[in-house]
Amino acid sequence: MDKIRMTTPLVEMDGDEMTRILWKKIKEELIEPFVELRTEYYDLGLENRDRTDDQVTVESAKATKKYGVAVKCATITPNAARMEEYHLKEMWKSPNGTIRAILDGTVFRAPITVKGIEPYVRTWKKPITLARHAYGDVYKASELVIPGPGKVELVYHAEDGSSFSELVHAFQGPGIVQGMHNLDRSIESFARSCFQYALDIRQDLWFAAKDTISKKYDHHFKDVFEEIYEKEYQAKFSEAGLTYFYTLIDDAIARVIKSEGGFIWACKNYDGDVMSDMVATAFGSLAMMTSVLVSPQGYYEFEAAHGTVQRHYYQHLEGKETSTNPIATIFAWTGAFKKRGELDQLPELVRFAELMEQASLETIASGKMTKDLALITSLKDVTVLNSGDFIKEIRIRLEKLMVS
Ligand code: NAP
Ligand code: MG
Repeated sequence: MDKIRMTTPLVEMDGDEMTRILWKKIKEELIEPFVELRTEYYDLGLENRDRTDDQVTVESAKATKKYGVAVKCATITPNAARMEEYHLKEMWKSPNGTIRAILDGTVFRAPITVKGIEPYVRTWKKPITLARHAYGDVYKASELVIPGPGKVELVYHAEDGSSFSELVHAFQGPGIVQGMHNLDRSIESFARSCFQYALDIRQDLWFAAKDTISKKYDHHFKDVFEEIYEKEYQAKFSEAGLTYFYTLIDDAIARVIKSEGGFIWACKNYDGDVMSDMVATAFGSLAMMTSVLVSPQGYYEFEAAHGTVQRHYYQHLEGKETSTNPIATIFAWTGAFKKRGELDQLPELVRFAELMEQASLETIASGKMTKDLALITSLKDVTVLNSGDFIKEIRIRLEKLMVS
């Protein structure tokens, strides 16, 4: 069988710990035997980030702008313990944060559904994709503890010297106060990413906030979405038979629970943080979740939603077998291949990625799975495999699918 050719390289961002081990295994067992793999390789492993003063992260994001599609392994975000463990020069920033700042995108996360891993919500038949705005609000807020009686005001000083203000509260006793902000530029690119992604994957888009209570702040988000929709996307949506609507966040939650799934739910930063944990858990597991950063210019970065699985890595270093689930990392690769194949008009690359997903899911549905899934499956007679054997099982199925 001839290997599948690629015309444009993928930007490959290697990472850390257990996911770095899985990364190599996935390439060797599931990709390189079938594809003439072309990547531009960036080693985002913590040692190399430290060696290059984190320039490698910046370079990898720039390469994503050049080529359009990247696939990223999970990486360590250094903290005090990692400073010591890796003897770092500096506590480098989160690579995801650096990449997001350069690509200016929105993160879309969707559960990977498979027979045998049932959602806790009975009505959910199709995945729900959560689109989380990744800038501002409570994540960039200023807060004060108010010790006693006194006035707190919000004051805006314009560059021309004029100003206006708003009383927050006249305190009679101690309390607390918070000031937060967002930017039109960021809200607009969030909205465009959501509309564009909905068209890409042909699903309806819901957006929810609390504009009845937050008549200026949340209402502004609603207005920005509405304006961009009407000007730039309404015609494309009706052509594709898709719907966009805004509703209150509490109404959205009631509708989400009663829905069948199969739509995109756009959330402001905080709502997206808590609701994506709810959706992921209700569908089964963090290791069964896809994650893609989409920029408004149409750059794509595919990754797993989970971290480097440190606890398993230390077991691996002790020479013990681990049963780490590679599905999210496999789906980062398949997502990237599908997008690359679509852009370069390589249907055989798209088909290969679809078969790799099919082989992965059929392996689980046949009762062969990693330990995290064995703990929650509704299937009887399951075989728990270590990561290597699980990937080998997928390989066997993939080979069969490729020849048929
Ligand atoms: P984690 O890697 O997400 O793992 C936390 C726990 O979740 C694991 O110990 C494991 O539970 C379970 N788990 C996660 N992924 C799994 C998988 N694929 N298969 C089986 N079980 C899985 O979080 P962490 O260990 O707290 O963080 C490790 C490092 O990841 C940190 O340095 C953090 O900075 C980084 N991180 C990176 C990203 C990213 O690059 N996108 C995201 C988050 C965290 P059991 O131990 O119960 O088996
Ligand atoms: Mg969270």
